[in-house]
Amino acid sequence: MKTKKGIAILGSTGSIGTQALDVLSLYPEQFELEVLTAGKNADLLIEQALKFKPNTVVITEETLYQKVKDALWHEEIHVYAGEDALCQVVESTQVDVVLTALVGYAGLKPTIHAISAGKNIALANKETLVVAGELITQLAREKGVNIYPVDSEHSAIFQCLVGEFHNKIEKIYLTASGGPFRGMNTEQLKHVSLEQALKHPNWSMGAKITIDSATLMNKGLEVIEAKWLFNLSASQIDVVVHPQSIIHSLVQFEDGSMKAQMGLPDMKLPIQYALTYPARLKTPYPRFNFLDYPQLTFEQPDRTAFRNLNLAYKAMDLKGTVACTLNAANEIAVDAFLNKRIAFLEIAQLNEEVMDAITNTLNPKLADYINADLLAREKANELLK
Ligand code: NDP
Ligand code: MG
Repeated sequence: MKTKKGIAILGSTGSIGTQALDVLSLYPEQFELEVLTAGKNADLLIEQALKFKPNTVVITEETLYQKVKDALWHEEIHVYAGEDALCQVVESTQVDVVLTALVGYAGLKPTIHAISAGKNIALANKETLVVAGELITQLAREKGVNIYPVDSEHSAIFQCLVGEFHNKIEKIYLTASGGPFRGMNTEQLKHVSLEQALKHPNWSMGAKITIDSATLMNKGLEVIEAKWLFNLSASQIDVVVHPQSIIHSLVQFEDGSMKAQMGLPDMKLPIQYALTYPARLKTPYPRFNFLDYPQLTFEQPDRTAFRNLNLAYKAMDLKGTVACTLNAANEIAVDAFLNKRIAFLEIAQLNEEVMDAITNTLNPKLADYINADLLAREKANELLK
């Protein structure tokens, strides 16, 4: 009988992917690494493949296939390329859990394939739930598949809910660090640079989520992610800025009791818990010391200077494909900001304009999400010209 959990990591060359490999290395008796995938970073994928000897690797950028194939010819590792390959490898019978650590909309189709094949999901790729939360959660229910959150706030909520699954949630509070520009007003935000935006105070992450954290879009995406993961209404989800990032989020139950999950900011813990739930395995990481943090502070997010948070709430109210539209606009806007084509405040502005311009489709099917994503990208690119 198979005793180890077979793991596929989609996006193994990224921030979450590499930290997931650190976690897996700690517990070789627990996990069998089956699949690694990269977007364009062939060198790191090759290095990871030689070290971890997975069954299969995928390089999404097809022009890099030969390079990866040549480097691994003497290994018993299947090498594939392209987007379709991502959808196929997650269906392998050897895979039990798929860690979705891709960034953006690209995670949607492989996640649908993984759930359809009955694989449990460790979900880092929050955009998938933002784009198509209704479809994904319904499919997961139909297939009896669990979606374990990797995002630290959602992992915190999930940890608070263990043993409480029959008790109603009154409210949840997602904590936000506030990002590098916390406390700045609109006037000050007009002058911030890309370099400043890329310096997150507490977390080291991929470029897209780092910018999303600076604009508070990340918290907006997380509010939508929480709605779907925990089956909540928008009014049950609140955001509180907590600059120290020690309390990772809180649940308030109907008796008024609040449970919080806390610890040092380190994504390895939520990654690990998503893979080992309900077990907690011993870790060698540093422990939190109260005396190093004599003050834990809390404040309101500034929804006037950081408009993206309200856009996310608006998308939840409107339902349908609006959140998908918002996500697509934001992916284009963040890319434009990373390429210094637009200024910081223009990210939220573009998001809002695209959201208002694209028709909403209620009760969407997969084709409607695909269409909304396409139209939103077209519109965003047109507005950028
Ligand atoms: P990174 O940018 O560091 O990594 C993204 C990974 O996805 C890389 O392996 C990249 O490959 C791959 N990739 C990117 N685009 C594509 C594509 N179009 N097709 C296939 N593969 C692609 O991102 P993060 O690890 O920071 O974030 C991953 C996800 O996890 C995001 O959804 C983010 O919001 C979420 N998350 C991240 C946290 C963090 O601490 N980093 C915290 C909470 C959530 P390559 O580099 O080879 O091109
Ligand atoms: Mg988070």
